[in-house]
Amino acid sequence: MATKIPTEIIIEICLHLTPNDLYSLSLICKKYRSLLWSTTTTTQDIWRLSRLSFVPNLTLPPPLLHTNNKEPLKRMSEQQYIWLMILCEKCYFCDQKNKMELTMYWEGKFYSCEKCLAKKVIR
Ligand SMILES: [Zn+2]
Repeated sequence: MATKIPTEIIIEICLHLTPNDLYSLSLICKKYRSLLWSTTTTTQDIWRLSRLSFVPNLTLPPPLLHTNNKEPLKRMSEQQYIWLMILCEKCYFCDQKNKMELTMYWEGKFYSCEKCLAKKVIR
């Protein structure tokens, strides 16, 4: 049934959803996943609007990513940014969910607890 809804209508609906709802929708089927995890301007606008409408303390744009010096600087996608800042709630390696124990590592784009970081990451 969902596959019969025209993409334009799905996009219109998405423009009114919270980041959590967008994420949930992306888990429903391949069509929604492909739409909502794309890096097209339309999809980035959907997530940006959702972030600005429903997460008032997250108004800064996604950060620039470290690249090697040969490539131009790239901005993190809206989906990655929202995932890291709002949706991700546990250590990347274990199930530690206490946010006070977790630190975000922008270079690797993940949250980790100190114990896992010491064991899993080479500095
Ligand atoms: Zn951990």
